[in-house]
Amino acid sequence: MHLIKYSFYAIVITMAFASCRSTQKEDTKNPNLVYVFPDQMRKQAMSFWDTPEFKGAIRTKADPVKTPQLDKFAKEAAVLTNAVSNCPLCSPHRGSLFSGLYPGKTGVALNCNSDRPISSLREDAICISDVLSEEGYNLAYFGKWHLDFPTPNDPVNPGNYVDPRRPAWDTYSPKAKRHGFDYWYSYGTWDVHKDPHYYDNEGNRYDPKEWSPMHEANQVISYLKNEKGQRDSDKPFAIFVSMNPPHNPYNSIDDCLEEDYERYKNIPLDELLHRDNAKTDMDKAQSAPFYFANVTGVDREFGRIVQQLKDMGEYDNTIVVFSSDHGETMCSQGVADAKNSIYSEAFDIPFLIKWPELKKGFTDNLLLGTPDIMPTLLGLMGYEDKIPDEVQGNDYANALKGDEKSKRPESALYIKNVNGEKDEEGLVQSYFPVSRGIKTHRYTLELVIDRQHQLKSTKFFDDDLDPYQLNSLPVDKNDPVVKGLLKEMAYWLKHSDDPWYKDEILSNWIVYEK
Ligand code: CA
Repeated sequence: MHLIKYSFYAIVITMAFASCRSTQKEDTKNPNLVYVFPDQMRKQAMSFWDTPEFKGAIRTKADPVKTPQLDKFAKEAAVLTNAVSNCPLCSPHRGSLFSGLYPGKTGVALNCNSDRPISSLREDAICISDVLSEEGYNLAYFGKWHLDFPTPNDPVNPGNYVDPRRPAWDTYSPKAKRHGFDYWYSYGTWDVHKDPHYYDNEGNRYDPKEWSPMHEANQVISYLKNEKGQRDSDKPFAIFVSMNPPHNPYNSIDDCLEEDYERYKNIPLDELLHRDNAKTDMDKAQSAPFYFANVTGVDREFGRIVQQLKDMGEYDNTIVVFSSDHGETMCSQGVADAKNSIYSEAFDIPFLIKWPELKKGFTDNLLLGTPDIMPTLLGLMGYEDKIPDEVQGNDYANALKGDEKSKRPESALYIKNVNGEKDEEGLVQSYFPVSRGIKTHRYTLELVIDRQHQLKSTKFFDDDLDPYQLNSLPVDKNDPVVKGLLKEMAYWLKHSDDPWYKDEILSNWIVYEK
């Protein structure tokens, strides 16, 4: 088998030399990267889970959604069944994704807005884009960034905020804050899905009046085709595409394409929201057909990007990832908040990854966390020795490649922060680490504290016996299972240098090793 594989590469490399082109593209040591991550797309919202190849890979029913492009891609990718967004919220997830650090170290412990000067991606954090830029890649960013503290720096209206709202959420990210991305077509955060706007490299603004995922896919395809000389065609490329949908609002066909809504509009809500924990009498239930329409639309746009890679002969030498910021509760557990909770619908994320040597799909229950993504991608790209020393996530490239000796995590940390102290002007001066939790392959445990650092509430689920997390079990700290989970928590809290570790929060529960 190996001989066949090596002789195949030898032929490819010989052909590349023979054609007198740069060998960079054909050289599998320098794969391209295309990372697509819509915002609130939950793991359960992919239709391949219900196909014979994937049946039983996740414990619960999948959503009755149509994702034909992902279904096709899943057969060529490693499909992770237990990937999580450790701090399932926009800015904290993004900070960890790019830097390989936990939110307490990225500078982005809370969502970025103009009331939170303490929450902004550290300019000196070495991001994956900084590393790849240094290695000679073209780096392109499309879509939502949401990693910077908004200031009155509108490039079109100097001295003003981009965002008229207060606090301002949307902002412009100048070149100094782009972490090696040399091609920029992005914005901070903005939820009018058919009236998006973008700033280019030089800060010119575009208002294309087009459903944003479709517009962004068009821009990515143009970049791949290099229609306007957007990139150096001799260099490998790394592209991040942050599609905002699915993201609320999902209330009408102002938020999605009508053709996608057509698929769902006549399906009764109790069929769309058929998970055992869904509360279909919530007002939010009306959003379900629009949510799934957004998922199907995003699936199509992802498929168009993949097809472009295939058409130009770059697919086999490109690492392609499909993931999301975090999930969407969509009426599960009766909670209104889409994210920022340990429930599986919010905490778990889709994570499908295809790399050059991988030809056939498989599922993997790797408990990949957000800070692991950056080092794992660098590992898969052959840059394991370029992973910055500061990185806290782990490189699971070898684990994904099936190396049985490679270390795999037993658990993943859950993190929830809220505003801490405010100054006289109402500006947030610190964050409060209101809860921490742990997920293993079987259990989910969360401990919530009050402002005096006393235990306020818990959630504890046996996900094998109660996959819809309907029955929160009592937490006895002397129970061997709970003890084991607290030990896992202690490990990650120390590893990430979390405030709970530093302040020894709930030390009557968690045994911190100092
Ligand atoms: Ca988000």
